[in-house]
Amino acid sequence: MKKISVVIPMYYEEKVADECYNRVKKCLQEIKNYEHEIIFVNDGSKDKTLEILEGIANKDKSVKVISFSRNFGHQAAVTAGLKYVTGDAIIIMDADMQDPPELIADMLKLWEDGNEVIYGKRKSREGESIFKLLTAKMFYKTLNALSDVEIPKDTGDFRLVDRKVVDTVNAMPEHNKFLRGLFSWVGYKQTPFEYERKERVAGETKYPLKKMLKLASDGIISFSRKPLKLVGILGFISIFISIIILIYTLISYAFKLNHLSAGWTSIMVTVTFFAGVQLLSIWILSEYIGRIYDETKQRPQYIVEKTINIEK
Ligand code: UDP
Ligand code: MG
Repeated sequence: MKKISVVIPMYYEEKVADECYNRVKKCLQEIKNYEHEIIFVNDGSKDKTLEILEGIANKDKSVKVISFSRNFGHQAAVTAGLKYVTGDAIIIMDADMQDPPELIADMLKLWEDGNEVIYGKRKSREGESIFKLLTAKMFYKTLNALSDVEIPKDTGDFRLVDRKVVDTVNAMPEHNKFLRGLFSWVGYKQTPFEYERKERVAGETKYPLKKMLKLASDGIISFSRKPLKLVGILGFISIFISIIILIYTLISYAFKLNHLSAGWTSIMVTVTFFAGVQLLSIWILSEYIGRIYDETKQRPQYIVEKTINIEK
C-alpha cells in the first residue's frame, strides 16, 4: 500500500497543536487505500508544544516527533522532517491550519495523475495584515526579477511532493535551504493548486519582520547572482560620474568659471558618493561571502535532541 507523509513544523504552537493533529488525522483517515504518517518537528519551542506532541505520539504510532535542541527556523524544521519521511507522497504544511488539510485528498488526485510537485497557490489570504500582504508581494516581485529560476508567486511551502523529488532535495548538501525555490529549481512535473489561505486558528505569527527578512535574503542570495552584477553596474556609473566631474572641473578651470572657494562642495559630494557606492558594494559582496563561510563551516543545519516513534 502507498503511504502519505505529512510534515508539520511547530514553533510555540501549544494553542494549535491538538486541533492540528485532529484535523490532519481525520482527513488522512478519510483517504482510503493509503497508509499515513504525520511528522511533527518541534523547532525548539519552550512552551507545551513538545509535551502535547509526546502525548499524541504515545497514543498514535503513526505520529512521529522530531525535537530540536533550540530554534533553528522554519526552513530547517521542514528540511529535517523531509529527512525522516518514509511515504511516497509527501505533504508539507503549517501547523496553524492556514493551509487547510481538507485539501490533501484533492492534491493526492493530482499526484495520482502523474504530477510530481503540486504547490499550493494562494488565491486569497484571510486575516493577514496589510503589512504582511504588501511585504510578501514585494518579496515575490524582487525574487522573480532577480532570480534565475521561475519561483511561482503567492506560493509558500504548502505542497505535495513525490518521493523522488524529496530524495533529490535531501541529497543536496547546501545548508540554508530555501525550500520553495529548490522545489521549483529541481524541475519535474509541477502543477499549481489554487486555494484560499485561511486565518490562523489560534496564537500569532511566528514570522516577525527579522525572520521574514532572513527568509527573503536567503531566497534572493541563493537563487541569484544578479546583486553581484549590480556591484559592477554601480562601479561603471560612478566612473562615468567622476569623468563628468573631471570634465566640468577642467572646463571651469580653463574658462575661470569656478569662483567658489576651493571646490569644497564638489569634493565633499564626490567623496561621500563614492564612499556610499563602495560600502553598498561591499555589503552585497559580504552577503555572498557570509553564505560561503556558512557553507564551508559544514555545521549541521539543525540539531535533533529527541525523536519519538522513529527507529534509528
Ligand atoms: N515555524 C517554525 N519555526 C520558526 C517559525 C515558524 O517551525 O522559527 C513554523 C510555525 O510553527 C508554523 C509555520 O512555521 O507551523 C509557519 O509559521 P507562521 O504561521 O507563524 O508564519 P506565517 O503564516 O505568519 O507566515
Ligand atoms: Mg501561518
